[in-house]
Amino acid sequence: NQPLSEVDPDVAQAIEDELGRQRSTLEMIASENFAPRAVLEAQGSVLTNKYAEGYPGRRYYGGCEYVDVVENLARDRACKLFGADHANVQPHSGAQANTAVMAALMQPGDTLMGLSLAHGGHLTHGMKINVSGKLYNIAAYEVDPESHRIDMDQVREQALAARPAVIVAGWSAYSRQLDFAAFRSIADEVGAKLWVDMAHFAGLVAAGLHPNPVPHAHVTTSTVHKTLAGPRSGVILCEADLKKKIDSAVFPGQQGGPLMHAVAAKAVAFKIAASQEFAERQQRTIEGAQILADRLVSPDLAEHGVSVLTGGTDVHLTLVDLRDSELDGKQAEDLLHQAGITVNRNAVPWDPRPPMTTSGLRIGTPALATRGFGAQEFTEVADIIAEALKPGADIAALRSRVETLTGQFPLYPGLEEW
Ligand code: PLP
Repeated sequence: NQPLSEVDPDVAQAIEDELGRQRSTLEMIASENFAPRAVLEAQGSVLTNKYAEGYPGRRYYGGCEYVDVVENLARDRACKLFGADHANVQPHSGAQANTAVMAALMQPGDTLMGLSLAHGGHLTHGMKINVSGKLYNIAAYEVDPESHRIDMDQVREQALAARPAVIVAGWSAYSRQLDFAAFRSIADEVGAKLWVDMAHFAGLVAAGLHPNPVPHAHVTTSTVHKTLAGPRSGVILCEADLKKKIDSAVFPGQQGGPLMHAVAAKAVAFKIAASQEFAERQQRTIEGAQILADRLVSPDLAEHGVSVLTGGTDVHLTLVDLRDSELDGKQAEDLLHQAGITVNRNAVPWDPRPPMTTSGLRIGTPALATRGFGAQEFTEVADIIAEALKPGADIAALRSRVETLTGQFPLYPGLEEW
């Protein structure tokens, strides 16, 4: 019964240091968030001890009566939140959810059509050295070279030529909404299944601030830890007639025992995501991203070659385009890091710089909205970022503006005493 600090002071210290880092910097990685205390409690619970291979009511282990309660709550809440027929809440991660969906819907050698990784897609949508690119024939679609948006006429033309078994709509770096009805109509026309990966924007969907893909897609996957602010994990939603195929692709197809502590934390996250407070937070998330995009398209930055892909955003992130700037993505990421702002560099479509350098930044607002930031704070954050991207920026002065903000919005107050 010894506490972690006594059993393993090295790990305890690293956790404490990480808490300090999260508290003292501005977390703007678009795929990150701060899970609430209730989620952390469920995830750190005794459910980690339990084996529960199988599904509620049909387990391969005894003693599953309480974990069945938890998994049923998670499934029911996910279905209600997104209007789905069936939910599988066992995927350990977004990548595992996606791999299971591909295994359920395709045979090796079948064609998968997804957004190119270089244009904002995810590596599980067909990257060469990912299992998706190794097992399936990939016909990637791209954004339009002028608008940097997905052009549905081009997607249709390509689908008619490639005749994919599955079309995946979803992204990791794209700042506009997708036309799910158009994707479904193309899938129907070519006899493909439509899979939507809403990992990034699921929280916005839950809040009713983004079109819901579930009524259009045969299968929808998501992570639970991005805009949804739950535990690090995945979920699959599907139409009733795919339930058996999806469930058996997850277990025993891809995974062994589910992480029941994570499943419990998912149930909690889905409950919170149905609340008014959550919807209001997603509203601030989008508003913050739009404030940021507006600031970064202003003339004082255009002068230095800094702009924003598509000229704005409808979602929780902004994609900074540095192709015409002296600064590359790596240098910009490092400068912001020195100022106390954490972002990630990101390749832009047709990026002239190499992948480790890139010509872009992906900047997201979910974690700061969770921390309590509203329009006023996001205006200040946007200005700090804008100033940092100009030549000769006074980084020390910007760091002190960041400290003022972090001081005003304490993160996990009292966590040490929980
Ligand atoms: N799908 C999309 C669109 C993503 O952006 C991500 C993560 O970045 C994933 C899937 C994979 O999620 P995970 O990192 O949990 O495997």
